[in-house]
Amino acid sequence: MTVRIGITGAAGRMGRMLAEAIAGSDAPAKLTAAIERPESTLLGADMGELLGGEASGVVISSDLAAVADQIDVLIDFTVPESTLAQAATCAAHSLPMVVGTTGFSDEQAQALVTVTAVVPFCQASNFAPGVNLTFKLAEAAAKALGNSADIEIVEAHHRHKIDAPSGTALSLGEVVAKALGRDLSQVAVFGREGRTGARDRDTIGFSTIRAGDIVGDHTIIFASEGERLEITHRASSRMAFAQGAVQAACWLVGQSVGRYDMQDVLADQESNT
Ligand code: NAD
Repeated sequence: MTVRIGITGAAGRMGRMLAEAIAGSDAPAKLTAAIERPESTLLGADMGELLGGEASGVVISSDLAAVADQIDVLIDFTVPESTLAQAATCAAHSLPMVVGTTGFSDEQAQALVTVTAVVPFCQASNFAPGVNLTFKLAEAAAKALGNSADIEIVEAHHRHKIDAPSGTALSLGEVVAKALGRDLSQVAVFGREGRTGARDRDTIGFSTIRAGDIVGDHTIIFASEGERLEITHRASSRMAFAQGAVQAACWLVGQSVGRYDMQDVLADQESNT
């Protein structure tokens, strides 16, 4: 069965990459709807032509509900306010939803959880398979070294990114905090300035770089007296995120109602090989 995929944020950096990833996917998947914000100057544009190719017949529109019967799953990489609105539409039309958008407030994240009681829902701060392996390596390192090491997370992204620290950096922090029995909201330190005093061993520090066209770098440092372990992931193209999200979308169709993340997708794939 061909999985019919809709994209919200279709003209954005990730939206365009998703359209390319769907076109090049080995899975039987097809882009059948492309949604942008109502004010977008690209409404009416053909997605194929937008990507520099032939007309595809998929024209950018702004009303997800109007095309809900043309898709089996929605992939959303937009902004939190949009994601919440699209999630309500997915819930109303029983559409599985993949969310890559980051930067939700606690209230917005909580509101999103209600959708997971209605449709299959997969959310990840990072869909790149290598980052999901990084989470596992960081968890193992935290268990082995965490109580004797200072933990710092450094991330770098392009100048257009609107949230900080990145969702991936926060996920890394959550993974290691959980492995060490710490509450991230109590131990996170977001940047330092001035007379800060000596470092508290239990804190987990976050540092953010925003510059140029950096796609996404994350390093987690475990530093103790005399040695330092660093685990680094560098994304050199958004294609890694897009392919992961398309993989998640194809997997999600047919899953039971509930909340999943990219680790569930990859674990299921591993157990099937
Ligand atoms: P972008 O600004 O290039 O694209 C966002 C798009 O969403 C824009 O085209 C915008 O017009 C559109 N949009 C805004 N409101 C909308 C609405 N109401 N309906 C439909 N479309 C709407 O941003 P980007 O670089 O593509 O990133 C998008 C999000 O994805 C960010 O939150 C980013 O952090 C996140 N991201 C996640 C991953 C991951 O793997 N999870 C990877 C990369 C980026």
